[in-house]
Amino acid sequence: MTTSINREKKIIEILQKQGSASIQELTEAFGVSSMTIHRELDKLAEAGIVQKKHGGAALAVPSPNQCAMCNKPISERTVFIVRLESGEQKRACCAHCGLMIQSQSKDALQSLTADYLHGHIISADQAVYILGSDLTVCCVPSVLSFGSRQDAQKFQKGFGGTIANIEEAIKYLHH
Ligand SMILES: [Zn+2]
Ligand SMILES: [Zn+2]
Repeated sequence: MTTSINREKKIIEILQKQGSASIQELTEAFGVSSMTIHRELDKLAEAGIVQKKHGGAALAVPSPNQCAMCNKPISERTVFIVRLESGEQKRACCAHCGLMIQSQSKDALQSLTADYLHGHIISADQAVYILGSDLTVCCVPSVLSFGSRQDAQKFQKGFGGTIANIEEAIKYLHH
């Protein structure tokens, strides 16, 4: 799990540096099978970060950078992506708007969100949320996503708020 996350980060770094990379290059850079690289790239492509091309990948052309809920510009640090059965993706500025969109869409598939501490893309279902912290990064009440409970607790020590899972976070927003 951790190695996959590190790999994701490194792949993005490589693509940022050189614009694109071949599967072979990436396989060699990480010493893993091309299957693994393909899987990694599929995940990043689903999140709209990379675009797979024949034999390799490039950074995706930035998708609409406005929140589908409140029209605020989206920061990659807090982005929340709701994927619909139709294949459409709705991008939100933060978990606050993202969870609102998700709970209002009947055909939402598993959503993705950025880990606020590390910036990588995680599954929204498995994320740990901090509700109503003193530090407001985007929308109010603040909802931030974390990849692990430890990270969320670290953040909570400094900035307060309540730790919650996705159901609790949605309930909180509907109050
Ligand atoms: Zn928003
Ligand atoms: Zn927001």
